Formats: sequence, structure tokens, C-alpha cells
Amino acid sequence: MQTTLVSQFANTSEGQEAEAILRTCVHCGFCTATCPTYQELNDERDGPRGRIYLMKQFLEGGEVTEKTRHHLDRCLTCRSCETTCPSGVEYGRLVDISRGLLEQQLERTGKERLLRWGLRTVLPNRALFAFFLSIGQFFRPVLPEGLRTKVPPRRKAGSRPTASNNRMVLALAGCVQPSATPDTNAAAARVLDRLGISLIEAPEAGCCGAVNYHLSAHEAGLIAMRGNIDAWWPVIEAGAEAIVMTASGCGAMVQDYGHLLRQDPVYAARAKRVSELTTDLGAFLLKQDLSVLNLQSRAGKVAFHCPCTLQHAMKQNGVVEQVLRQAGVELAQTRDQHLCCGSAGTYSVLQPELSQRLLANKLEALTVDNPDRIVTANVGCQLHLETRAQVPVQHWIELLDTLQR
Ligand code: SF4
Ligand code: SF4
Repeated sequence: MQTTLVSQFANTSEGQEAEAILRTCVHCGFCTATCPTYQELNDERDGPRGRIYLMKQFLEGGEVTEKTRHHLDRCLTCRSCETTCPSGVEYGRLVDISRGLLEQQLERTGKERLLRWGLRTVLPNRALFAFFLSIGQFFRPVLPEGLRTKVPPRRKAGSRPTASNNRMVLALAGCVQPSATPDTNAAAARVLDRLGISLIEAPEAGCCGAVNYHLSAHEAGLIAMRGNIDAWWPVIEAGAEAIVMTASGCGAMVQDYGHLLRQDPVYAARAKRVSELTTDLGAFLLKQDLSVLNLQSRAGKVAFHCPCTLQHAMKQNGVVEQVLRQAGVELAQTRDQHLCCGSAGTYSVLQPELSQRLLANKLEALTVDNPDRIVTANVGCQLHLETRAQVPVQHWIELLDTLQR
């Protein structure tokens, strides 16, 4: 694709990166076939190729209107189009850059700004999110049905082994997970401990930066990333062999630290090292000898929902399924595995109507084989799916933790 960016963008590193990505697109349109919003809305501007044209038009100095942003806002950033694209177009980076630049040019309404500010203030702040969640959980029994399902029930974390093994890995507690699904990392710690590996969480590490970064507050996202690098570095120097991610949304973000901080004179080298060390929990377990866990499935039929961040961003499609099969789990048949559930970070709040349509489609696709439960690998998907699922939804590591003979 030929491009001529206006000097305002052409002279910046983000503009140059966007231009290089735009030039790899050959307009073939293969990506539209696997785009969830195009499938739902049947409008070229709600598919990847159409959005690429809209971004190109904006970066070349063409007119941008609320309509332009409307179609970019409706993109889930699921990156299903990246998996399909034969030309290797890095659509996720392009849309992140374009949204950030657009945000500086086209002011949002007061209501939109307030909602985005609220999300950026509460979600990445572990204590603040836990506070609001506890209020919601207290009133949950008396909330109307529609609202009640949106508040995750109170859950307890199981016991955590003391970190006494020679081998150790880092894990990120994150922002939402410790209060919404506190047993996820505890279950990971128990499973890893049985393999002779200690799971360490650096207490100063916080949100991975994705909430701010994907809401176009790039600098705030980068600050969170630098903070995590500082928190992890002493444990890395002490010999942590990997940074094992239990939420693929965070995993995808941390794997990008190296790229996003590549021009930072202080953090570039450490960010690169952090990204190299980052892996999904499933991929890490698959390299271990799982036979010592002596697992036996009593779980019935299990449907696995592979988050977009795991399959399209981290490129780990099929890995968790392999772990579950090794554990003797009977996997249910599912359809449309490549399609997003509609959670997509803050998308379910910002685009509720479309998000609910995608959720209904996803639950139908996950339950065609009448599973007894659904498991997934990302806290956002887990909480979103359970709002309307008719069977229990949990993180797959919680299930694995219960399968020891
Ligand atoms: S599949 Fe790739 S090259 Fe083809 S239109 Fe989509 S983004 Fe462009
Ligand atoms: S990221 Fe997902 S929703 Fe956005 S254009 Fe690509 S496939 Fe469509």
C-alpha cells in the first residue's frame, strides 16, 4: 500500500512505525473473514481492511470525524486479523498507535472522558478495584438480576506453599485478578510447587499497563511497565527462570515491553530481557515433566475458551489443550475458536451492546457439545463468560490443581 503521511506524523517514531505497517497491507481482504465485528455488523469499516483505510486516511491528513473514531472504537483489538493476514500486517500495533494519535486530535464528549478516566483510575489500582468490588459483592444479593450477574461472586484463595524450592519463576498478581479470582495464582503456585518450582510475586509489581495503554494513555501505561521491571529485576537477577503469566491479557502486554520501551535509554535492555523471559503458564508447564503430578481427571467434559491474547497475540494456540489432555481431561468440541468472547479489556463496558452479542455467540459456540464446565486462561474472559454461562467457568489451572490422585 502506498502511503504519504503528513509531516506531523511522518517525523515521529510512532508515525514511521505506523507507515511501515500500512505499507505491508495489500488490501486482499482475507482478514475480514475472521473479524468478529465485521461478521456481526457486515460493514467494511467495521473490519480490519476498512479500519486500515480509515487509519491511513487520518495519518495522511484526511478529514477525521466522529465516524472514524466510532469504527476504530468498535474494534476489539482481538488481533484475529493478524493471525489470518498472509502479509504479516501488525494490525494491533497500528490501531494502538492510531488511536493514541487520534485521541490527541479529536476530543471526546465529557461523558466518554469521564468513563474512560474512571476505568483508567479504578481498574489498574489493585486496592481501589478491590474496594469497589467488595461493595458490589456486599450488595450483590439484593441487586437486580441484570446487575448482579456483572458482579463476580466472592471467592477465596486457597493455601499457598512457602517458596522453598531451588527453582523459581516470577508471576504477576496484576490488578483485577487478586480480588476477582484470587485462587488463580494460588492454584498455579500449588501446581508448580509439586513440580519443585516456587512461584514468586514481587509485591511492588502492579497492573501490566494494558488498561492505560489500550485506552490510549500511552505514557501512563509505560510508567506501569517501568514499575514492573523495577519490581521484577532483583528476582530476575536472583535466578528466576521465567515470568509465568496466568492472565494472557497481561502476558501479551508484558511480551511487548521490549518493543514499547526499545527507545528508552534506561529501560530498553531490561525490558527486552523481561519480554524474553515472559511465557504463558501453559507453555511453561508443557516443558515440565507433568507425570510427577499424578493427575486423574474427574472433571467431566470440559470446554476450553482460548483467549484472543493467548492465541492471536502470544501465538500459543493449542498449548493449554495439550496440558489438559496430558492431565486426562476430556475436551468438549467447540466452534469458532478464533472469535472473541466480547470481553476484550474494557470493551464490555465501552461497547456493551456489541460485547453482549459476541458473548452470546461465544457461549453458543462453547456449549455445542454440552460441556460440564468452561475453562479459560484470562481473568477478563473468565468474568465475562460467567455472567451468562449456564455451567461453571474457571481458570484452567484451578481445574488442574484439583486433579491430583
Ligand atoms: S489480510 Fe492483511 S494484507 Fe490482506 S487486507 Fe487484511 S491486513 Fe491487509
Ligand atoms: S483486531 Fe479483531 S475486531 Fe479489530 S479489526 Fe482485527 S479482527 Fe477485527
